[in-house]
Amino acid sequence: MTLPNSIAIDGPASSGKSTIGVKLAERLGYLFFDTGIMYRAVTLAVIRAGITVDDEEAVTQFAQRVHIDVGPPSVADGRKEDVLLDGEDVTWAIREPAVEKWVSRVSAYAGVRKAMTELQRRIGKRGKVVMVGRDIGTVVMPDADLKIYLDASLEERAKRRYLELIQRGETVKFEEVLASLKRRDRIDTSREIAPLRPAEDAVILNTDGLSVEEVLKKVVQLCGDCEDE
Ligand code: C5P
Repeated sequence: MTLPNSIAIDGPASSGKSTIGVKLAERLGYLFFDTGIMYRAVTLAVIRAGITVDDEEAVTQFAQRVHIDVGPPSVADGRKEDVLLDGEDVTWAIREPAVEKWVSRVSAYAGVRKAMTELQRRIGKRGKVVMVGRDIGTVVMPDADLKIYLDASLEERAKRRYLELIQRGETVKFEEVLASLKRRDRIDTSREIAPLRPAEDAVILNTDGLSVEEVLKKVVQLCGDCEDE
């Protein structure tokens, strides 16, 4: 059995997509590509430019102009990658609450999705890629060799996200984190274009109560002869 050349991992916020995706890509020697970064970077740019998020046309035009770059991490501060917005390092800024608040709204716009999807497809076509997001298996790489949908209950995801934020030194309330995830879930699953849902041929993995290692083991098994040593 040959290794899947393109791997799509989808799922709701904080379901472990990036954590698992990075580790899987490392193991396979593949490129890890987190598409959420692009939507977050556009949202940050829109906020900074003072554009009203409700103004679909202005947001869309803006999204087509901004220049987002993703590269290997240049600072050992826990980041998985460097994110540059028009040349500025915004790796942590895209994780701020203001971005979390608006990102699902911005990413529901057709024009924004079109611009992002085109770029993601170009990267996907090169192969040897683990791409994570919401619509990778359904829209961006419908022909992906392996499609995984990582799921977990809202409570479990909120717990993971809360701990992550606390470890990063942020002051947050658990209830706020839970409400924010719930809101994003609702917008991401109910939008008209490319809603969050598992592809028909995706393997659905529920990660409730599983450690990162346990989930990784299952994912590695799905890759066939990508042996777990
Ligand atoms: O994965 P992450 O939580 O960083 O994604 C942030 C937001 O970007 C999601 O809540 C979703 O609204 C949007 N997104 C998307 N399609 C993707 C990846 C992310 O709509 N492929």
